[in-house]
Amino acid sequence: QAKETGGNQVRFFETNMAERMRNNAVLDGKLRTAIQERQFVVYFQPQISSATGCVVGAEALLRWNHPEQGVLAPGLFLSRAEENGLIVPINEWVLLEACREAKSWQRMGLNDLRISVNLSPVQFRRVNVAQLVERALTLSQLEPRYLDVEITENIVIENTDTVVSALKQIANLGVSISIDDFGTGYSSLNYIRQFPIDRIKIDQSFVRNMVEDPSDHTIVRTVANLGHSLGLSVVAEGVETRAQAELLKADGCDVMQGYLYGRPMPAEQFVAFLQSGQRAEVDA
Ligand code: C2E
Ligand code: MG
Ligand code: MG
Ligand code: MG
Repeated sequence: QAKETGGNQVRFFETNMAERMRNNAVLDGKLRTAIQERQFVVYFQPQISSATGCVVGAEALLRWNHPEQGVLAPGLFLSRAEENGLIVPINEWVLLEACREAKSWQRMGLNDLRISVNLSPVQFRRVNVAQLVERALTLSQLEPRYLDVEITENIVIENTDTVVSALKQIANLGVSISIDDFGTGYSSLNYIRQFPIDRIKIDQSFVRNMVEDPSDHTIVRTVANLGHSLGLSVVAEGVETRAQAELLKADGCDVMQGYLYGRPMPAEQFVAFLQSGQRAEVDA
């Protein structure tokens, strides 16, 4: 009896595995079609200076405008695109698109914003990222100081020599580097001394409950102090309420990003947002 159950379990497992492989293959095909048919879109989320309440930057966030399912967030397809390598051409496109948009806002006479682009560890493994960044700057004619690249701490686990040299080359171009989701990844702070980092982004998981949870608040304050002691700029992610914004400002966070100020939006809508001169009411 037990043996029979075991056999069934194996068959069940194989069925699931076969099914998963089939699903992956279907998704791979759809992602390839999405690239060919230009179904990807870049959304932009404003970043606000705590000191002035002005929009000082934007983060470029990938979306898939799926023909049947509508606009999909990266959580639904990013890990597969990293597994099958399609993130490489997709992210190359995001980088260029984001630089072109930022340049077009400058040409329209809007604020000179810094555009932040998320990079994938897979890119560092497979291509020359510094060259990619340089090409995007040349093609878009965006000045390097208006570009920021976001990497996560997990990239440290990757081939460190390659990553460090790529990041140094990127920094030498005059592009800034941010550590995204700070505090959630690789736990050693050793990399901070080797990497040419300009900015840390406090992960939204710490911001979420910081008003109610004193230990989360302590983490946020401590990370902000650490960042400043190292001469880094500090960005808070996932700011949704006034109460959070007040605490974050008191803790010395330099830049705020979150639904309180604006959701990620398509370029056209983002331009309208800038034109409406929307100012964040950080101290209201
Ligand atoms: P991330 O870089 O940490 O981006 C912040 C995420 O938080 C975004 O999710 C954004 O929409 C969301 N967010 C912003 N403000 C708030 C808020 O106030 N409350 C809450 N609950 N969420 C907020 P999104 O757009 O779904 O992106 C998820 C992740 O996917 C990003 O996290 C980033 O790691 C990755 N990603 C996005 N675009 C790209 C890309 O072009 N390339 C690569 N490699 N990764 C990307
Ligand atoms: Mg990011
Ligand atoms: Mg983040
Ligand atoms: Mg995140």
